[in-house]
Amino acid sequence: MYFETRLLHNGNEIDPVTGAASIPLYQTSTFHQQIDQPGQFDYSRSGNPTRQALENTIAKLESGCKGFAFASGMAAVSTVFLLFSRGDHLIVSRDVYGGTYRVLTRVFQRLGIESTFVDTTQIDQIIQAIRPATKAIYVETPSNPLLKVSNLRVISQLAKAHRLLTIVDNTMLSPCYQRPLLLGADIVIHSATKFIGGHSDVVAGLVVVRDKGLAEQVGRLQNDFGAILGVHDSWLLLRGLKTLQARMECSTRNAEKIALWLERHPDVKKVYYTGLPSHEGHSLHCKQASGHGAVLSFDVGNREKAEQILKRVRLPIVAVSLGAVESILSYPVRMSHASVPPVIRKRHGITDGLLRFSAGLENSDDLIADLAQAIDRKVTVSFAGK
Ligand SMILES: *Cc1c(COP(=O)(O)O)cnc(C)c1O
Repeated sequence: MYFETRLLHNGNEIDPVTGAASIPLYQTSTFHQQIDQPGQFDYSRSGNPTRQALENTIAKLESGCKGFAFASGMAAVSTVFLLFSRGDHLIVSRDVYGGTYRVLTRVFQRLGIESTFVDTTQIDQIIQAIRPATKAIYVETPSNPLLKVSNLRVISQLAKAHRLLTIVDNTMLSPCYQRPLLLGADIVIHSATKFIGGHSDVVAGLVVVRDKGLAEQVGRLQNDFGAILGVHDSWLLLRGLKTLQARMECSTRNAEKIALWLERHPDVKKVYYTGLPSHEGHSLHCKQASGHGAVLSFDVGNREKAEQILKRVRLPIVAVSLGAVESILSYPVRMSHASVPPVIRKRHGITDGLLRFSAGLENSDDLIADLAQAIDRKVTVSFAGK
């Protein structure tokens, strides 16, 4: 069955108790127990029918063995890192999500779990970083905000040869466009706050694992650490997932049009989008993902121009986050990467003129007209369709 069909018909869409066409909110903390005959559920930290429907759904969509829902993307990331112990070593994408970098360097390092950050688009850099204590390779592709593409098949093979786990943060594309477990990865993580929730109204995280052994380990950690997703937020994700492909297709179409338009704009120095043949990761991306997603970045040369655009745009909200029904414009140097020292930012290509755009479901002509008036002071534009 095609992905959009499986979003709606995956065996978890109807309440097994009542037949309800929407999984009910089992808003309960505990369950009455028949002392001689323990039921499936006993306490909602350990398991809840609404959360379980979501966990089973994401496991199916990512082609994994079991899914787990957490209170945020960072709760999901951190719980996965609890698989490791003092003395273990991890290899991590250099331009990993800022929160992931922070929890590794501020918390897990203190607990004796060390990380080496490398450019995972360069396989030899990964090979050079492998030590006897290395336990996993942690990758984000495409990365944020420069959309760098790492080779998931080659990295998974390399990891397997060294008995390492491959962990992939798949937030940027969602299972709609990229399924890392089918490319050899062991664990997939999502900030479901982004495309999976899709409406800028939930903070949530998801994990899907490849096999039973990992399912048992992550399941125990989820219950022991306890950073579970609440019932209502689980329900909102189940609802958001139903339209995932419709939203991804529409916002990706918008992103493609905007990227092409920006690439031709004289005030735009560079556009980063895997859908552009000029992007260095374009052909590799096309081999491991079925779409380019809604997120692109572009460089307008300097801080003044970037701030002018942020002040003048009328349609996108100016905010952190991505993957929502409404377009979101972010300014990495003052938002996601503000805590990175300017020298290091510059070395990694995150310049003062870099803006990140997450396309929403608006009409692309309206979005382009808005960007046009925001980039060019002199032009006044009337919106199409109004
Ligand atoms: C937002 C994000 C996270 C963190 O998720 P939260 O839901 O904000 O905790 C992790 N990875 C990526 C790629 C993200 O964009």
